[in-house]
Amino acid sequence: MGWSFPVGTVKGTTIRVHLTFLLFLVWIGGTHYLRGGAAAAATGVLFMALLFTCVLLHEFGHVIAARRYGVQTPDITLLPIGGVAQLERVPEKPGEELVVALAGPAVNVAIAALLALALGGVPSASDGLAVENPGMGLLARLFWVNVSLVLFNLIPAFPMDGGRVLRALLAYRLGYTRATRIAASIGQAVAFGLGLLGLFGNPLLLFIALFVYMGAASEASAVQLREAGQRMIASDAAVTRFDALSPSSTIEDAVESLLRTSQHEFPVVDGAGRLRGVVTREDMIRALREQGADTPVLDVMRRDIPVMHHRQPLDEALRVLRGGKLPAIGVADADGKLLGLITPENVGELMMVQAARPPRPPPANPWQRNPAGGVAPR
Ligand SMILES: [Zn+2]
Repeated sequence: MGWSFPVGTVKGTTIRVHLTFLLFLVWIGGTHYLRGGAAAAATGVLFMALLFTCVLLHEFGHVIAARRYGVQTPDITLLPIGGVAQLERVPEKPGEELVVALAGPAVNVAIAALLALALGGVPSASDGLAVENPGMGLLARLFWVNVSLVLFNLIPAFPMDGGRVLRALLAYRLGYTRATRIAASIGQAVAFGLGLLGLFGNPLLLFIALFVYMGAASEASAVQLREAGQRMIASDAAVTRFDALSPSSTIEDAVESLLRTSQHEFPVVDGAGRLRGVVTREDMIRALREQGADTPVLDVMRRDIPVMHHRQPLDEALRVLRGGKLPAIGVADADGKLLGLITPENVGELMMVQAARPPRPPPANPWQRNPAGGVAPR
C-alpha cells in the first residue's frame, strides 16, 4: 500500500504505518491540547500509544489465525480505521477466511471485556471525561475505542473485516469470485452511504468512505486479475511482435530501436533465438549518459529475466513478474526459443480489455489452474 512506511518487524511480519494514521494521531493530540493544555496532551499521547497497541493486537489476531491455516502475513499496515493485514494469500476455505476475519475484532472484544472487568462494569461515555480520576477516564475511553474498533471493522465493506466476513458467508453458496464481486459492490454502496452521511455530518466519515471505496475497488480488481490469470496462459499476455537486439548490438542500436518502436523493453536474443537478457529504456538512457553510445548491450542488460513456457498458467507468470519486480519476463517454446515478452504495461492493457468484456461463467473451483498449462513441460 502506498503512503506507508515500515516501523518494525515481528516474526516475519513487517509493521507499516500509513501516513493518515499519523495524521489521525496528530488530530487526537491536537484536540486534547486545545481542550486541556499540556497535561491533557500528555494523557492524549499515552492514549495514542495504547490505541496504537490495540490496533496492532487486533491485526495480530488475524496474523495468528491465518498462521493456523498455513498462511503467512508479510506485512500489516496501520490505518486510522484499524489496520490491514496483508495475507500472502486468501485462506483455502470460506470457513477459514471467516475465522481469520473475525479473529481481529475478537481481540478488541477481549480487550474491552478485560477493561470492563477492571472498571467494575461497562463505563458510561461520560466516565471517559472524568477529570478527578484521569487513570479511570483513560481506561474508560480505551474501552469505548475498542468497542468502536469492533463496530467499524464489522462494517460489511472491504478493507474492513466485515467485508471479508460477508465474502466468506457469500462464498459458501456462490463461490469465491462471485462472492467477492458482490461483497465489493456492497462495499462501494456502503462507502457511498458513509460519504453522504459525512457530507451532512461528521467529516471523518468522508475520510472513512474514501478508504472503504478504495479498498472495495482494489479487492475487486485483485480478484479479476486472479480470475483472468487462472483462465489464461502465459502467451495470452505476451507481446509477440517486438524488436530484438543481438548480443553484438550496442546502445546506439538499442536507442535506434527505442525511437523506431513503442517498446520500452528490448530482449537481447542470441543466434539460437534464446533470451540472454532485457535492456529497458531507463538502462539505455543511463548507459548513453554514463558509458557512451558504443557500449555493448551485454554490459547493460538485465540478466535475471526468467523465461517461462508459453503454455504455463498466466497467474504463475504474473506472480513471478510481480514478485521479482521485473521489467519483463520471457515466454518461450519447448526448445527455449523466445516467442514474446510479458511486461507490466501489457498486463495492464490485458486487464483493461478483460474488464470491458462481458463476464464469463467462473470456473467451478476458483483455486483450480488452467489444465492446459499444468501438463505442458517447462
Ligand atoms: Zn481486522
